[in-house]
Amino acid sequence: MTGNIWVLAEQWRGRISEITYEGLALGRELADQSGARLEAVLVGHNVRALADTLGRADSVLCLDHPLLAEPVASVYVDVLAPLLAERKLAAFLIPLTNVSLGIGSWLAGQLRVPAVNFCKDARFVDGRLQARCVLYGGKIEAEVAVCGEPAILGIWPGARPPEKGRSAQPPAIEQVTVFPDQTPSVRFRRYVEPARGDTDLRQQEILVGVGRGIRNKENMALAENLAGVLGGVVCGSRSVVDQGWLPLSRRVGKSGLTVKPKLYFALGISGAPEHVQGMRKSGCVIAVNTDPQAPIFDVAHYGIVGDVIELLPALTRAIRARKPPADDA
Ligand SMILES: Cc1cc2nc3c(=O)[nH]c(=O)nc-3n(C[C@H](O)[C@H](O)[C@H](O)COP(=O)(O)OP(=O)(O)OC[C@H]3O[C@@H](n4cnc5c(N)ncnc54)[C@H](O)[C@@H]3O)c2cc1C
Repeated sequence: MTGNIWVLAEQWRGRISEITYEGLALGRELADQSGARLEAVLVGHNVRALADTLGRADSVLCLDHPLLAEPVASVYVDVLAPLLAERKLAAFLIPLTNVSLGIGSWLAGQLRVPAVNFCKDARFVDGRLQARCVLYGGKIEAEVAVCGEPAILGIWPGARPPEKGRSAQPPAIEQVTVFPDQTPSVRFRRYVEPARGDTDLRQQEILVGVGRGIRNKENMALAENLAGVLGGVVCGSRSVVDQGWLPLSRRVGKSGLTVKPKLYFALGISGAPEHVQGMRKSGCVIAVNTDPQAPIFDVAHYGIVGDVIELLPALTRAIRARKPPADDA
């Protein structure tokens, strides 16, 4: 049997992040495969109540201290490194998000243990840990054999469905007393809410997502027309927003919004992991792309290999023709 599997339970502003449950799902698989225990590691201040939601783990290590209130990598490492050194561990799964980014690499550097980032999968092969990593935004995947324990694995968002990491069962909780040596080198001054005023994409049932395949700003009117007849809203990939064809508030994906409409059109969108991360939970995805190999077809329920510029006017006309006439009374 190898050492235990740990998952950093990422919490932010009083809530456990979804990626924590994704990590717990992957961690559970690794623990079951190796016969080890799965432990969630919850770090923060006044976070004890959150531990009850981490029942997919066998137990939760709760590290509570006022200096841990904000996720500052150096302070987290200050309390995690001695704990890691003292307990027998095979792997520590850490979410790769803006909140937890840096903790894993810093920890690995301090302890001189292997670190593998962007892991979308991991398993034991002949007793040795092997990880599958996403490189260049998903264009390449690498199979990595990890030499040495404990291994720090940075978990790529979407590695597992979060539902698989949840359990109604309350876990055993171990309160670990910690005294960080240092005061944080950086401090969060305030949380800035994104500017409001535009449509909130997260509230929409129908989204017409547009990618670089739309070619130019003038053609955006084709997407607006389709959204108009469907009663939906136009949104887009980062490429489209970077071109200035849509405002920032309409960006879907890793650095934009996560949306869950009933219907999502992906028009001329390649399906890069950063985009898919923000729309993969849509009820129904219809993708249109000239490239039959485009990765968007992997997540689409319906796919059309074709030119959006030709298809959009015809589709809009066909939907309009089927709509019952407006009641003028
Ligand atoms: C840290 C980081 C964060 C990121 N965050 C985000 C994010 O939040 N959201 C996001 O979207 N991206 C994000 N990206 C960028 C992401 O990696 C991709 O570059 C981006 O999503 C690609 O946009 P696209 O699909 O519109 O363009 P492309 O990848 O260029 O794809 C265009 C697609 O259109 C197709 N096409 C061309 N002409 C036509 C036509 N006439 N008809 C139909 N199809 C056509 C092509 O075959 C191609 O598949 C991020 C990247 C990084 C590194």
